[in-house]
Amino acid sequence: MHETGLSEAIVAAAVRRAAGRRVTALRVRIGGHLVDPDVVTQNIQVAAVDTVVADAAVDLVLEPMTVRCHGCGRSGPITDHLAMVACPQCGGVDIDITGSDDVVLESVTVASVELGAV
Ligand SMILES: [Zn+2]
Repeated sequence: MHETGLSEAIVAAAVRRAAGRRVTALRVRIGGHLVDPDVVTQNIQVAAVDTVVADAAVDLVLEPMTVRCHGCGRSGPITDHLAMVACPQCGGVDIDITGSDDVVLESVTVASVELGAV
């Protein structure tokens, strides 16, 4: 995943939603991707420089995908890339991965009004 491009897309969406008002907070839901929240937050703040989003607080909601193993029955969130390839418990490759990998700009708070999802 290209985190810089993602951050720019999030900022661009927030700028569009804000329609010229100053953004004070963003809430972003990241499904599936294995990301370091600190890195994503920093990238968003860097991408937001010189925009109405520059001073916004960034609130990330991470929703990891879940892997279920047919071999041993283990089910749990994916915590590293290896878990997407083989079961971390038994090494089996007969696994199902469920969950969304959507990245959603959930809400944008502007200086006086909050714009929720439409
Ligand atoms: Zn297993």
